Amino acid sequence: MAVANTAVGKSKNKAITGRSKVPKPKPLKKLSPEPTSATTRMITYSIDTKIIFSVCAFFLFFELSMNAKNNAQLQYKNRLKERQASFQSEELVKGILAHDRLALASALTLLESNKAEHIQVMDEVIERILPYTGNSLRIGITGVPGVGKSTFIEALAREVFKTPENKLAVLSIDPSSPISKGSILGDKTRMNELSLHPNAFVRPSPSSSHLGGVNRSTRESILLCEAAGYNIVLVETVGVGQSETAVHAMTDFFLLLMLAGAGDQLQGIKRGIMELTDAMVITKADSGNELKAEKAKGEYTSALHLFPQRENNWIPQVFTTSSLEAKGIDAVWSEIDKFHRWSVSNGWKEENRKRQLVSSFEEQIHQVLLHQLQSKPQFQEKYASTLNRVLSKELSAHRAAESFIALFFSA
Ligand code: GDP
Repeated sequence: MAVANTAVGKSKNKAITGRSKVPKPKPLKKLSPEPTSATTRMITYSIDTKIIFSVCAFFLFFELSMNAKNNAQLQYKNRLKERQASFQSEELVKGILAHDRLALASALTLLESNKAEHIQVMDEVIERILPYTGNSLRIGITGVPGVGKSTFIEALAREVFKTPENKLAVLSIDPSSPISKGSILGDKTRMNELSLHPNAFVRPSPSSSHLGGVNRSTRESILLCEAAGYNIVLVETVGVGQSETAVHAMTDFFLLLMLAGAGDQLQGIKRGIMELTDAMVITKADSGNELKAEKAKGEYTSALHLFPQRENNWIPQVFTTSSLEAKGIDAVWSEIDKFHRWSVSNGWKEENRKRQLVSSFEEQIHQVLLHQLQSKPQFQEKYASTLNRVLSKELSAHRAAESFIALFFSA
């Protein structure tokens, strides 16, 4: 404050005493006389032209050098992006193979992304971790919302962790309700207890919309979990759509959870899903519900007998459980374990995995081909007109597809 007051005081004094210097006005320059002769005008004209040319040349040079600089910058940025991408995939692969949960979580997040550079990174990562995958038991679990899936998974995990070396990854596929546009599995944080276990990893499966969709991203998520050291991978889905068929096609053991007395219709369980199950569980067999559960068990056991024999000769059993009272969960886990040992020893696990890979490869061919056909501008018009002919019943869908694909291959 004192310093400020002194400064103000000094300037006031100068103003009062008039000691501050006022610059004197400079004398005006004399204007040069107007050129009068023709020679002088010619000289002036040639000087002006030279100046204009020099200015133009300068701007041209400036423009060219700026363009070159921009190009160089763009190239540098692209190279940096490429290096970052490879660096990222390098880091991710290292982290995943070192069983680092953070690296696994980052990779799963990238799987969800539609950005070209992220897709490229993840393609690289998946390819590099492939040799370290396949060594897990893949379990699919399905059942309508409210049947008790997440509570059951937590109870099952307690059984799993009785063997301390076991590491369990849980991926939940949430197909989202097409009507409410919301989550079917529920936005609430599920499986809180399990999420905190050091040997567990719980994540919603990435619902990627890029080429291959949910099926591809769930398959790739399973691979990432395996490479990150999880020897049991559980894929949970809601038994109300197509997702359970997809999950069956990417797991070794498929478990269907049912409520006693709710009726198959009410539970939306289609006959087709029962045909896929390797075991059925009647949940909530407690609080006076035990008898109803036992009755349902008998009914479903008879119903399962009506299905033709499985190709692998496995006979699916029905269990009753109470996750809240931890009843019957051990029996389900030992059934899964029994199936696993049995399918490894008789070669079914390997055979089934091979078949799954074949159908996954074929499914990807369909997806990639369709994407190419729809996205190439030269085919878009033809695609629209062929589709119109199908819609107006002029052409059968099969003939239309044949002629359209023939066009693609002849191009
Ligand atoms: P999800 O939607 O299939 O995952 O079902 P949840 O696990 O969230 O369970 C739905 C409801 O059923 C919750 O209120 C649970 O507490 C309840 N529940 C789950 N398992 C049992 C069980 O074994 N017995 C009883 N009585 N209730 C249960």
